[in-house]
Amino acid sequence: MKPFTYSAPASVAEAAERLAAPGARAMGGGTDLLPQLQRGIRRAGEVVDLRGAVPAGILAAGQGVRIGAATRVADVARDPDMAARFAVLAQAAGAVASPQLREMGTVAGNLCQAVRCWYYRHPDLTCWLRGGDTCYAQVGDHRKHGLEPGDCISVAPSDLAAALLALRAVVTTNRRESFPLADLYRKATAGDRSTIALDDGELVTAVTVPEPPDASAYMRAGERAAWSFALCGVAAARFGGEVRLAAIGVSNLPRLLDPADPLAGLPGLEMTGWKRRLLETLTQDALAAVG
Ligand SMILES: Cc1cc2nc3c(=O)[nH]c(=O)nc-3n(C[C@H](O)[C@H](O)[C@H](O)COP(=O)(O)OP(=O)(O)OC[C@H]3O[C@@H](n4cnc5c(N)ncnc54)[C@H](O)[C@@H]3O)c2cc1C
Ligand code: SF4
Repeated sequence: MKPFTYSAPASVAEAAERLAAPGARAMGGGTDLLPQLQRGIRRAGEVVDLRGAVPAGILAAGQGVRIGAATRVADVARDPDMAARFAVLAQAAGAVASPQLREMGTVAGNLCQAVRCWYYRHPDLTCWLRGGDTCYAQVGDHRKHGLEPGDCISVAPSDLAAALLALRAVVTTNRRESFPLADLYRKATAGDRSTIALDDGELVTAVTVPEPPDASAYMRAGERAAWSFALCGVAAARFGGEVRLAAIGVSNLPRLLDPADPLAGLPGLEMTGWKRRLLETLTQDALAAVG
């Protein structure tokens, strides 16, 4: 691991100033960032620990809730109001990783975590998403990758993203008051290989769910019940007669699905056709759960 400096600013303004410097990296719980630095697949000049700078905790906001960016995933999972009114989010939070990782990982860190593609994480490879020329997954093993063709076929890993997308959540940063969660993500391009749509010096401060759904549920399949990323996760939230469905594990970004045609635009790749059946089944289960 290359040496880096560490800072723990006490305000959003100071954190933003530090993050505007070249090579500065935001850190929540560090459960994704630090292993990447340790493996040498990412570099940092300075690691800026945001836990003393951005809010933590879950507050009422009108009919909905505002979740501070530094709120730990475990606190979302065990909040009684969350379980009662925003079941899909509590269920998704409770499914993340393991108890230890949920105690360390923050909401913003979970939403902004990097993809888990084994080529991306390999210290001796520089794949397309990390700035190279080749998507090794497409010429190699992509059994657990996406159903959507593209330059990068890795999948969105965040369980919270699926739940929050279904719940019509909006994101607040130090520069923007509120924008739809979907806009936190972008397709990587040849000129910008990042899938997170934040500018230098911009950091997530909160996520707000404007109103509770009438019913909601999270359906997920992993290789194990715990300590295992979702092969596919489907969140459903019903607001009156409208059902919003969102999935992770199937495409490059967290994806809204059409309840009438959830597989639309997801043809499957040479090794991932099996996931279409999984997505279909989880979607049926999620729709049944929200009535
Ligand atoms: C073995 C294992 C299994 C896992 N299984 C799952 C799983 O099943 N489901 C799942 O969803 N996740 C899973 N994870 C991922 C884990 O949940 C994330 O590592 C964790 O949520 C990241 O949170 P963090 O606060 O530690 O992020 P960090 O590691 O601190 O940061 C992650 C990224 O977010 C950025 N970031 C952090 N805070 C902010 C902010 N406020 N504004 C802007 N950018 C920010 C950082 O710069 C970094 O790029 C797993 C991880 C491991 C190691
Ligand atoms: S799928 Fe994406 S992350 Fe994986 S090797 Fe290809 S470009 Fe890299």
